Amino acid sequence: MPYETVSFTNKKDVRVVDIRTDTITKPTPAMRKVMAVAEVGDSVFGEDPTVNELERRCAELMGKEDAVYLPSGTMCNLIAIMVYCNKHGTEFIAGDRSHTFLYEQGGAAVLAGVQCSLIPNNPDGTFSLDLVKERIRVNTDFHEPSTALIIVENTHNMCGGKVLPLEWLDSLAQIAQQYDVPIHMDGARLMHAVVQSGISAKRIARDMESVFFCLSKGLACPMGSVLCGKKSFITQAKRLRKMLGGGVRQVGIIAAAGLLALDEMIDRLQIDHDHVYQIAKAIDSMESKIFRVDLSSVQTNILMISLDTRVVTAKQVLQKLAMVSETDEVKVSVQAGAPSPSVIRLVLHWEITSDDVRCAIDKIKMVMKEVQSEILIS
Ligand SMILES: *Cc1c(COP(=O)(O)O)cnc(C)c1O
Repeated sequence: MPYETVSFTNKKDVRVVDIRTDTITKPTPAMRKVMAVAEVGDSVFGEDPTVNELERRCAELMGKEDAVYLPSGTMCNLIAIMVYCNKHGTEFIAGDRSHTFLYEQGGAAVLAGVQCSLIPNNPDGTFSLDLVKERIRVNTDFHEPSTALIIVENTHNMCGGKVLPLEWLDSLAQIAQQYDVPIHMDGARLMHAVVQSGISAKRIARDMESVFFCLSKGLACPMGSVLCGKKSFITQAKRLRKMLGGGVRQVGIIAAAGLLALDEMIDRLQIDHDHVYQIAKAIDSMESKIFRVDLSSVQTNILMISLDTRVVTAKQVLQKLAMVSETDEVKVSVQAGAPSPSVIRLVLHWEITSDDVRCAIDKIKMVMKEVQSEILIS
């Protein structure tokens, strides 16, 4: 399904609250400063001291032997698939709401020649462990592909920023070990899971053969993701990075922002989580039948609002949220996203202040009332 956003043509006196996603953030002023003076070298040669330091710290944070700094999360997932599924006739298991399946242009199939075996995601981002057992194919007969990898997503993006329960991860790891199939964690927003659960990244990733997180998602860096795993895995990942054109040179300039993010941007994610909860609570308190949020499942910085599409579509709501007319009392343009016609998605990030949140709530309530009154009229 297309990801719809509506852009607002700026008018004076209108406050724009852009919560389409957490990748739109600019580097913090402190980041600009450390970037300006970062020590650099050719990182493909392993000679960029800032990149080396970032990789060392991330490996330590995740409790893994080594790490590699990559341009994007998509490349982390693709490289992991290419390393584990390096024989023809292999497949990987992933959730049907996973980013890897939905939003990476089928790179696993196109570039790695690997088939994806989909298991339906539960609303909490997990999938059935019984189905995993049924689906894993090892020592297969000559008709079947063999399963070489399982991918999990934490937090789960399209399930609304859910943190995977540790017990589920532990049970999955037991099954994976039994069949000798590695697990790769797409932890684009793993730090949000750490902050929400209070469980260390190291513990969450304990049984993962590899794991990455994005410095560009919620942590304010202009780019970059760090893929962590065993030494032998990272060596292969670095070879593939070069093949895919991801070997960037004096990238310490940007890695410097990553180092700062590790120190300054992780703990503050709680603020974004609190902001999401405030918005969710405001929507919930309206007791609308048209706009619904599941307050009990709000966990991190992503909020999914379900719509009754018999009354209004996501596209219409996005337009209403974004537009401000001269007569409106609330002069706020809320920029949101819509992963499907029945869902509005809001993602909080560091540039959104508590005051912005109050304004966004005023606007959302205004739009909800407007939609409600439109049905009464029609
Ligand atoms: C954004 C995202 C990715 C991809 O990261 P990019 O840096 O945008 O390529 C992968 N997985 C999840 C869960 C994501 O949210």
